[in-house]
Amino acid sequence: MKEQRRGMLLVISGPSGTGKGTLCERLLRSDPSIMFSVSATTRKPREGEVDGVHYHFMDDAQFDRLLAEDAFLEHATVHGHRYGTLKSQVETTIEAGRNVLLDIDPQGALSVMDKMPETVSVFILPPSYSALRERLRTRNTDDPDEILKRLSNAYGEVRLLKHYKYALVNDQLDPAFQRLSAIILAEKHRTIRYFPEIYED
Ligand code: ADP
Ligand code: 5GP
Repeated sequence: MKEQRRGMLLVISGPSGTGKGTLCERLLRSDPSIMFSVSATTRKPREGEVDGVHYHFMDDAQFDRLLAEDAFLEHATVHGHRYGTLKSQVETTIEAGRNVLLDIDPQGALSVMDKMPETVSVFILPPSYSALRERLRTRNTDDPDEILKRLSNAYGEVRLLKHYKYALVNDQLDPAFQRLSAIILAEKHRTIRYFPEIYED
């Protein structure tokens, strides 16, 4: 029997510096069925970030225009910057049977889960707050004030963990990635993802 599947919406959240980006990059390299949804943001690009690849970087006026066009599946202000998931990045891909990966903050994630209850949501926890601080410091992409803001927001974000289907601690990268892959593998085999037609014979 030929397998036909519905696309899956995979949402990854967790405090800044917990390793979401690192895990997502590995996932995208290892699983060609997963497409990354490139968000819009008003945050300035970091060194090495490419417009259209990591984010669609824009100013407030451009972001407002997209809002007025109802182009966002969700949007939120996170650590003082605006971010939004573009409907165009998600809807057609899922309909075509591909899987879509969102790396978004818990406010946005809860809104997506509300609109699309079949969302596979995974919360990535750091091993400790001190490890989180160290990761943000050694990543060397944010100034000390920005790091403080991201750390103080982490406490509130972790409290939203209970709304997610899955959680894992990113203590060491290899085992954490294996746990994430196991979640995705199991989710791909949920009966809900099979087209009902294949049962009709
Ligand atoms: P996020 O996307 O959640 O903000 P990143 O993926 O940018 O986090 O990771 C933050 C920093 O922590 C990066 O420098 C990354 O290399 C490092 N990192 C990620 N996972 C681990 C891990 N398991 N152990 C140690 N450092 C890690
Ligand atoms: P960063 O500035 O470190 O790239 O991302 C900061 C936070 O914004 C992270 O928690 C990231 O998951 C979140 N984020 C990125 N894109 C989006 C988006 O489109 N919507 C929402 N709600 N959050 C996002």
